[in-house]
Amino acid sequence: MTYYSVQCLNELARLARRGFVIAIWESGLDMQMLIAGEESSGGGPAVAILDPFHEEVVETVASASPGDVERALNAAVAGAALMARTPAGERAAILERVADLVAAEAEELARTIVQEQGKTLGEARREVDRVPALLRLCAGEALRLSGETVPLDQGPDGVGRLGLTLRVPVGVVVAITPFNYPLLLVAHKLGPAFAAGNAVILKPATETPLSGLRLAQLFAEAGAQAGTMQGLAGAGPSVGAQLCADDRVRAITFTGSESAGQAIVAAAGVKHFLLELGANCPLVIAADADLEQAAAATAIGGYSNAGQACISAQRVFVEQSVYGDFLDALTERVSKIVAGDPMMAETTMGPLISAQEAERVAGIVADAAGGGARVVCGGEHSGSLFAPTILADVPADSRLFREELFGPAVGVAAVDDIDEAFARANASAYGLGAGIFTKNVHTALRFMREIDVGVVQVNWSPLWRADSMPYGGVKRSGIGKEGPRAAVEELTELKTVVFHPPASL
Ligand code: NAD
Repeated sequence: MTYYSVQCLNELARLARRGFVIAIWESGLDMQMLIAGEESSGGGPAVAILDPFHEEVVETVASASPGDVERALNAAVAGAALMARTPAGERAAILERVADLVAAEAEELARTIVQEQGKTLGEARREVDRVPALLRLCAGEALRLSGETVPLDQGPDGVGRLGLTLRVPVGVVVAITPFNYPLLLVAHKLGPAFAAGNAVILKPATETPLSGLRLAQLFAEAGAQAGTMQGLAGAGPSVGAQLCADDRVRAITFTGSESAGQAIVAAAGVKHFLLELGANCPLVIAADADLEQAAAATAIGGYSNAGQACISAQRVFVEQSVYGDFLDALTERVSKIVAGDPMMAETTMGPLISAQEAERVAGIVADAAGGGARVVCGGEHSGSLFAPTILADVPADSRLFREELFGPAVGVAAVDDIDEAFARANASAYGLGAGIFTKNVHTALRFMREIDVGVVQVNWSPLWRADSMPYGGVKRSGIGKEGPRAAVEELTELKTVVFHPPASL
């Protein structure tokens, strides 16, 4: 057993964040994994979890060795068999109990999210508050799983025969999640997968495993049997990749970057995929828009969670006649955002997940400015804290308009008319969300039909989601839809049954 001073741990963790070390010591584990119904400190290296604002170690987490992953997969196969015999009413009751348990420790979970991820305490409380209701929606879906009768008598061969479909669980589901909503996005995976009757193995983001692993533990406390719900921690390219490549796994539900999604699909072989990937969402401001409402929504949509949201408003196209007025209204709102310590009540925007990420965002902002964009406000950063930034006159070929930013900056450009706005909004490899502000119903209807994304917002920014709604992208933003009902469908299969009459020859 080796012991290290707190200063030493913090220094190691800072180095890890900068990519020098994947950190790691052997004692003082705070958070365990859940394997085969038991808490486990695993055979992998323990990982330091950093508070992104102070860049200090808040907890150490166990991680899985290849042997632990194998053990979890074996337990999941047994768990899938148990789930196949667990009635819908019992699955729903467990989900209801998990919802109660989350509600009972909501404040603790919110503070954990602030510590591991860096969003403000207000944002973290709103994230946690959505989870019990989401799990109750999943409980309802467990009770509604159903197939249908299938007409077979379109030709003489089918006459007298009865066709049915049964909706059945896929078996073992692997759920892999990103850092930016470490509890809510985990709940969007565990809830529907469990409601559908599957055994689930969670692998939360390496940087933010605490609240997600806690949710897996709460399933066990609520009565989920050993092997039906498990939580592993560790690096994506090792623990995540081993899980995804395994043939016992029938479905992968993944939220994260496009590059990790590509790696998963390449390694996984024949499986079901539910992939929620990256984006650079557009927002169109028509000349007849309510500019105050549009500015208010953009100031929320571009900077919530320091812009670390897949549906963040990133590319804003404004009709020329209202361009100046919109920029003024937006600047007034954004200049009121208070960036700082996410635990402080006055802070309205926290840091990025790491100083390294702030450097990456600075590179994209500098690229836009170098190409001729005007920095209206912000642009600077200190450590992981990036100032809320507006860039105007952003050139079409800048990285800000081509790539995903995942930071607190919004790029704005003037367009001659609505046709140009729609064309530029669609000029992206991604297609997750989009928004338009207009009072003209015909413009809104055209946008709804012509914009190539998964979720369209009329008179709001792309950043809006009700947990009940189907949610997911097209193009390089992913495959399939989340939201309890849609995700349950994605994580089940239809089994077709034909009954033949006694004398059928
Ligand atoms: P990431 O892709 O770096 O990591 C996501 C998860 O994948 C982590 O758990 C990671 O450990 C794991 N992983 C990485 N490589 C892997 C591999 N080869 N095999 C298996 N697992 C692997 O993403 P991130 O930085 O945590 O999150 C930010 C990204 O997530 C952004 O691109 C954002 O747009 C996306 N995101 C999308 C949505 C959506 O709904 N579409 C929602 C939130 C975040």
